[in-house]
Amino acid sequence: MNLDLLSGDTVTTSAAARVVRGVDELRLALAPARREGRAIGLVPTMGFLHEGHVSLLRAAHAECDVLVMSLFVNPTQFGPNEDLDRYPRDEERDLRLAGDAGVDLVFAPAASELYPDGFATAVEVSGGLTSVLDGDPGRRGPGHFRGVTTVVAKLFNIVGPDIAYFGQKDAQQAAVIKRMVRDLDFPLRVEVMPTVREADGLAMSSRNVYLEPADRARAAAISRALAAAERQALATDSLAAGLAAARAELAAAAIEPEYLEARDAETLEPVDGLTGHPILVAVAARVGGARLIDNVVIEPPGG
Ligand code: AMP
Repeated sequence: MNLDLLSGDTVTTSAAARVVRGVDELRLALAPARREGRAIGLVPTMGFLHEGHVSLLRAAHAECDVLVMSLFVNPTQFGPNEDLDRYPRDEERDLRLAGDAGVDLVFAPAASELYPDGFATAVEVSGGLTSVLDGDPGRRGPGHFRGVTTVVAKLFNIVGPDIAYFGQKDAQQAAVIKRMVRDLDFPLRVEVMPTVREADGLAMSSRNVYLEPADRARAAAISRALAAAERQALATDSLAAGLAAARAELAAAAIEPEYLEARDAETLEPVDGLTGHPILVAVAARVGGARLIDNVVIEPPGG
């Protein structure tokens, strides 16, 4: 996309994307496009890009006139014992990949730009969506999603996108953000893109770099377990049989899941059988040094 309106020079698809660090600078850079009524797309990321991120960027690039990627390792969504300090970072590479994927502007603020002294506000989707699965207080807890919705609400206000793109890999996050957008009337559309996987099925994740080779091989059992859950549930018309098959796959790889649960894909309410609605089967498991999450959605047969 030629962004003369944005930067005064021609951006080619092989150039590193332009980085913007300040909120005011980003708004200024987007003002001409907004005035012209061009469609603005936003892909929020924490960086260390992989093909999963790139698939979101490509989809956004195909649909939008101007593409903004945010690159921000958001401290408020990490618990005190989580991996904020060691979260992998490689901004130079990210900027190159973003440029190749057609990103016009990378918004990469310092933490103090988004959370200045005295910052005291949070956006929280309460109840059933954020207190289960990863939001269970014994796991990452609802504070994780409070951090996510707060920063995503800020990004929506800063960028003003027409369309924002998220990955199905983080199914609960996508459901929470959709609910926030609906409840707070954000004037934008949320697109959720399919999970991109490695050749052996492992869902791509920046955190996969934490896996030692033996654990990396074992980790493929997670996607095999989810595939087995779907296959068995549909073949036997029994969700319980599907979950048992998944548990067996995990056990064979000596993976003890933090959770393996079936829930309504939209409300995340528990389900105890195939309901005629899409069902999310979600798993979280620690494998070696990495906490991995993955999921599959079982669509109702013939639906
Ligand atoms: P992250 O940088 O991990 O916060 O992810 C940024 C966005 O990319 C989120 O919307 C994720 O759901 C999405 N994403 C991460 N991994 C994948 C994947 N393997 N396939 C598709 N989308 C992904």
